[in-house]
Amino acid sequence: MKILVINSGSSSLKFQLYNMDNMHVLAVGLIEQIGESKSRLKLDLPPTQTEQTITAQRKVGDHETAITIMFDLLKEHHCLDDVNELAGIGHRVVHGGESFSKSVLIDDHVCKIIKALSPLAPLHNPANLIGIRVIQKKAPKTPQVAVFDTAFHQTIPPKGYTYGLPQQLYDENRIRRYGFHGTSYSYVSKQAALHLGKDIGHTKLIVLHLGNGTSATAILNGNSIDTSMGMTPLEGLLMGTRCGDIDAGIIFYLARETGRAIQDIDDLLNKQSGLKGICGENDMRTIIAKAQTGDSTARLALDVFCYRIKKYIGSYLAALNGADALVFTGGIGENANIVRELSCHNMNSLGIELDPQKNNNQGTQRHIREIQTTGSNLKILVIPTNEELEIATQVLEHIQE
Ligand code: ADP
Repeated sequence: MKILVINSGSSSLKFQLYNMDNMHVLAVGLIEQIGESKSRLKLDLPPTQTEQTITAQRKVGDHETAITIMFDLLKEHHCLDDVNELAGIGHRVVHGGESFSKSVLIDDHVCKIIKALSPLAPLHNPANLIGIRVIQKKAPKTPQVAVFDTAFHQTIPPKGYTYGLPQQLYDENRIRRYGFHGTSYSYVSKQAALHLGKDIGHTKLIVLHLGNGTSATAILNGNSIDTSMGMTPLEGLLMGTRCGDIDAGIIFYLARETGRAIQDIDDLLNKQSGLKGICGENDMRTIIAKAQTGDSTARLALDVFCYRIKKYIGSYLAALNGADALVFTGGIGENANIVRELSCHNMNSLGIELDPQKNNNQGTQRHIREIQTTGSNLKILVIPTNEELEIATQVLEHIQE
């Protein structure tokens, strides 16, 4: 049984084809710079086939063309002879607002709601919807499922999602914390429970999703009870180019004293801040390498990044009244041992004790690792995330219902 996972962005299309009988990936593809004069195509065929990467540059005018090319490529490389071979298609959708607390089979009503939620994610929801509409045309008989980044966090109680603003702004504009990276949290929390040998309904987890975007979530009995990203992905931990938590007063100061327009401030906080703002780099590998050769701004960026994580761990330990495990995931969480070390530094009185040797032993496989000392109260886990597999699994659940 084959399931296709689609992530349709404003100028890109990512896709992953699964054979759900053995959970093997049959193909992973990316089409970037859609609409520009030279678009880039990449198709990876994993070792189950003749392992190869196909790259090409050609003009891909719009998403419809991109999706036609995707199906042509999958056919050409014998991954999918006909769209009707697909048992289902999963779409990553960024914002489900308060309308979706889990994934949903797509119909016209669902599309209308995704569209209506666009003001909450103006760069993402319209692009996600284009992907859905085009695929609906190409594969009208295939069940399609929308999987929302926000859905996992709909269990956060009002005291966790309410901002200290006039309640009218919630009533009329739905201004509240939504949270993101939900598909990753859903996958990783289930993996953590399996690893701990516990029923997920009896677990307390603090999960740190550290990629280009970063967030932390407190998960009680499988439900998100608080998360660091807010109404938008700008709040919370320091990120590659986003500032995370700042004093909102800075925005007014910038407007008043420097005359910046609101769009410039938006760009400044989302694209010029975070790690990049502090040290000029947003790739954690580069920052670590520079910090290790004595670059003081790279070191400062690393310290701010990890100190912010440490503070969130502390606050979620309080929210959960202790935890079974602290989980690191995402490109940085899975690979950057120094980030894990600094984030857990000097927290033994809270029951967190990282074993430096286990932490540094990266291993070669993408598997779950425990990196705490034998005396640590909390387990400290490194769990590779897999958002695409989580989406495919949720599609499977819908079509088996
Ligand atoms: P995205 O949020 O785009 O999915 P990823 O989860 O792939 O991003 O994470 C990207 C981040 O992971 C980058 O900052 C990158 O530098 C970092 N990263 C990847 N591999 C390593 C590594 N071996 N050591 C340190 N950081 C790494």
